Amino acid sequence: MIYFIGAGPGDVELITIKGKKLLENCDVVIYAGSLVNPELLKYAKGEAKIYNSATMNLEEIIDAMKDAFEKGADVARLHTGDPSIYGAIREQMEALDKLAIPYEVIPGVSSFSAAGAVLKRELTVPGQSQTIILTRAEGRTPVPEEESLDALAKHKATMAIFLSINQIGKIAGDLAKVYGPDAPAAVVYKATWEDQKIVQGTLSDIAEKVKEAGICKTALILVGNFLSDEYDFSCLYNKTFSHEYR
Ligand code: SAH
Repeated sequence: MIYFIGAGPGDVELITIKGKKLLENCDVVIYAGSLVNPELLKYAKGEAKIYNSATMNLEEIIDAMKDAFEKGADVARLHTGDPSIYGAIREQMEALDKLAIPYEVIPGVSSFSAAGAVLKRELTVPGQSQTIILTRAEGRTPVPEEESLDALAKHKATMAIFLSINQIGKIAGDLAKVYGPDAPAAVVYKATWEDQKIVQGTLSDIAEKVKEAGICKTALILVGNFLSDEYDFSCLYNKTFSHEYR
């Protein structure tokens, strides 16, 4: 069996119990070395065969899985954060389908949740936004035109932008046209890692601050009024609001 496991954002304790148990029991581990914390490998069996997928192409990854499967070995395929978000797992699953190799996907804590946690902010705070947009700027991977940052910005929702820190200047400029130049923005570099950095500002100064901090990869850009000091209390714990349990 092949297990696609969400490794979480960085802190090794943020893998799920299920993911850790599987990692402890698999004979082969293929981890995405560019982003998965290599410290997680301490949970693997001493004799486990370890591959770093950062240096492999899709065919080589599938060959390693097939080889393990034919020998009766289980494979832990570690992906950063949650595998379903920019995880490139679809093509791996399809290749396994073609080879009739069974697999399971174990979800993980995505970096956007980790960013909310380290910023100590609720991403869906009443009075500001009840929606989170997870997106990216176009890079070598095209983004459908309807999902351009201009189009998405119209909602003024909480936005978490992946894979795009190298375009922070352009992104902040484009979003400022809709959210306004004073709208709050934050950049979280390596959320939950030991060398995590948090940069906070507005759409007018965030790019400069990010440059000063020397951040150019492994960072999320967060934009929206959930970062401001204003919000409404939720109804859930309001004493005048009765519901099913109270
Ligand atoms: N599946 C992952 C995302 C993979 S795409 C998840 O759910 O988080 C890789 C991008 O995710 C990076 O370019 C960066 O934008 C973001 N990212 C991953 N880990 C991060 C972390 N610990 N802190 C901040 N951003 C992170």
